[in-house]
Amino acid sequence: MDFLVHNTGWIEVICGPMFSGKSEELIRRLRRARIARKRVQVFKPSIDVRYSADEIVSHTDARLKAECVTGAGEILGKLDWRTQVVGVDEANFMGPELVDLAQQLADSGKQVVIAGLDTDYLGRPFPPIPDLLALAESITKTLAICMRCGNPAKHTQRLVESGDLIVVGATGMYEARCRRCFEPGVPPHQEELPFVTAMRRAPSNRE
Ligand code: ADP
Ligand code: ZN
Repeated sequence: MDFLVHNTGWIEVICGPMFSGKSEELIRRLRRARIARKRVQVFKPSIDVRYSADEIVSHTDARLKAECVTGAGEILGKLDWRTQVVGVDEANFMGPELVDLAQQLADSGKQVVIAGLDTDYLGRPFPPIPDLLALAESITKTLAICMRCGNPAKHTQRLVESGDLIVVGATGMYEARCRRCFEPGVPPHQEELPFVTAMRRAPSNRE
């Protein structure tokens, strides 16, 4: 959002399925803010400590220091009033309070950059992202690559059986799927395609 005049706050949302590069993009924007000598604070939900308790970690292993919170309500308490840029990863785990908080922060002149899943494992809009999209100045939708056919993928396919909305996991538990290949809920067992096995074993892919 470099083209915006920098004397007002605003909200940027980065959304899409798992593996679509949301964390990478969030990290890129926050690093640039630091290069611009802005004061940056980054928050992530403590529910997701898969790879690190005090960092955002992308699937390409890009990392950025972050503060853990149990929900959006805790962010205000940890906020330094001098902070100019507030980053939030995994916003879909932050709770509905994130909407009002993001508005308050933007109204008080801060740049708020939020990344999160826009749909859940059944393909339904995942709160609070839909409301944030309506209120944001800037929206970026990231797509992944469908692990069955290679097309652009907007869905997060759950591969393990569970009716819970939240099951924290990554490769092996979820994969990206396009509209055509997505099967809401758990798919019947399917043989993994050879290029998927090769990608999983590649050293650049964790797990
Ligand atoms: P997100 O935060 O959206 O889950 P990350 O930023 O953590 O995504 O990871 C994105 C990276 O994941 C890509 O740059 C790529 O290297 C890797 N990746 C693994 N599987 C896929 C996939 N199916 N489609 C696209 N990228 C993938
Ligand atoms: Zn597909």
